[in-house]
Amino acid sequence: MPDAIVLDHPLVQHKLTLLRRKDTSTAAFRLLARELSMLMAYELTRALPLQIVAIETPLETTEAPLLAGKKLCLVSILRAGNGMLDGMLDLLPSARVGHVGLYRDPATLQPVQYYLKLPEDVADRFCIVLDPMLATGGSVAAAVSLLQQAGVSQISVACLLAAPEGVRHLTETHPDILIYTAGLDRGLDSHGYIRPGLGDAGDRLYGTK
Ligand code: URA
Repeated sequence: MPDAIVLDHPLVQHKLTLLRRKDTSTAAFRLLARELSMLMAYELTRALPLQIVAIETPLETTEAPLLAGKKLCLVSILRAGNGMLDGMLDLLPSARVGHVGLYRDPATLQPVQYYLKLPEDVADRFCIVLDPMLATGGSVAAAVSLLQQAGVSQISVACLLAAPEGVRHLTETHPDILIYTAGLDRGLDSHGYIRPGLGDAGDRLYGTK
C-alpha cells in the first residue's frame, strides 16, 4: 500500500498552485478549496462497488451500473476541515457528515477532543476524514482512532497538502487507512507549518488573519 496517494491530475496541480499563492484572496481560496475537494472526491470514490440494475431509456430496457453497498460519511476536523465539505458534498450529496473538534494540550502536546458528533449508523459507513493540512498527523490520527472506537472499519483521509512527517505518523499508527493528498511537501518547520505550504488553512479559509 502506498504511503500517500498524490493526485497528479493537471487540474488538481494547477488549482493547488493558485491555492498556495499568498496573494490569493479569502474568497478565491475558499472556492479553490471547494473545487479541489470535489476533484478529490472523484478519486477517493474510485473503488466504490457498483451493482447492475435494469433501467428504461427512452428507447429500450437495458442494464446499467449504479453505486451499491456502503454509504458514505464525511468527517470534518474542525475548523479547517469544513473548507473541504461543500466540494465533497457537491459530488456526494447523499453522504452524511460528522464533526470532530480537537485541540492540542499545551502541556502534553497531545490532541484532546472537545466536540464529537457522528451519524448514529456511522459504523456501517465508509468514512472520509477531511483535514486540509496533514502536518504532524496528530489530529488526524486521533480522529481516525475515534472513528475506529465507534466501530468504523473503512476509513480514508483526504487532505490538500501533506508533510512527510504526518504521512509517516499516520501510516505507523493506522497502517490500514488510505491517505489522499493534492500535494506532498518538503516537511514541517519549527512552528509546525508545512513548507513550502500555504500558511494556516483555517485563517485563509475564514479570513481570520
Ligand atoms: N495547519 C495549517 O493550517 N497549516 C500548516 O502549515 C500546518 C498545519
